[in-house]
Amino acid sequence: MTFEFTPLGVGAAIPIAGRHTSAHILNIQDQIYLIDCGEGTQMQLGRYAFRRSRIKQIFISHLHGDHVLGLIGLLTSYSLLGRDVPMQVFGPTGIKAFIEANLTHTHSYIPYELNIHELDPTIHSRIFENQAIEVFSFPLLHRVPTCGYLFREKQRPPRINIAALERYDIPKAAIRGIKMEGDDFTTEDGEIIPNATLTLPPYPSRSFAYCSDTAYNEALVPIIKGVDLLYHEATYLNRHYKQAEFSMHSTAQDAATIAKLAAVQQLLIGHYSSRYLHVDLLREEAQYIFPNTALALEGEVYKVPLERKPERIQ
Ligand SMILES: [Zn+2]
Repeated sequence: MTFEFTPLGVGAAIPIAGRHTSAHILNIQDQIYLIDCGEGTQMQLGRYAFRRSRIKQIFISHLHGDHVLGLIGLLTSYSLLGRDVPMQVFGPTGIKAFIEANLTHTHSYIPYELNIHELDPTIHSRIFENQAIEVFSFPLLHRVPTCGYLFREKQRPPRINIAALERYDIPKAAIRGIKMEGDDFTTEDGEIIPNATLTLPPYPSRSFAYCSDTAYNEALVPIIKGVDLLYHEATYLNRHYKQAEFSMHSTAQDAATIAKLAAVQQLLIGHYSSRYLHVDLLREEAQYIFPNTALALEGEVYKVPLERKPERIQ
């Protein structure tokens, strides 16, 4: 039951050696989703052994180059590789014109079904679902229309209580046909074992929020409240807050304050300005406010466990 996030690019607008522009893989229950697609994304996918063909949905936050300039290359690589399964691309107003103009002027032909979902970047709404998850977009506060994304697992069925099966000497195969949500089980001797005895509550649904790029914005707090993992940009240190305000980015202190207000489980900061060759100070600044902060590092895997800490299960 995988739930893990892998940054492929943790730099801000300008790539520097060892630090790429924004792109991230979110793996939920073995489905992988690409979030942003900056320059070099295909190379980073290869470096960290993500097969391009496994991606069926791409979520673009906004149309600044450091989040989208790898997209056309990826879409056209799929053509060259003979992709025949549909691709969905989600992004704010302008994404359709951006893709279509680039495909037109590069004389590219897309043989597979390409569905472009242009989102209203001013509203909070559900934009996608499949068997495992729901995805919501919500407004971020940036210089151009920008969408944040919230990924939430759907409620899973109750779990089989293995200890109870052993207690009543019921083989696991014998209960395959019963509904975990309600059916009781009748033994060969006619004894009825109540469903509540045979099952345990489902694992809690896990969630991930992506907030990049954005200025400090407390309007995010109710939307991302209590998520297991929050990726929030932290382009600057607080001592450069004027640059942050001017460019509508966040400082590490801003990111940590939002994480604290939203009572998230863990904060991951990234989108580091190229002015910082070392980013430990960004982590220290954030940890002063929100201790459970980690630095996003390219190729690292950040896992959300199946069960939260006991005090959070209630
Ligand atoms: Zn950016």
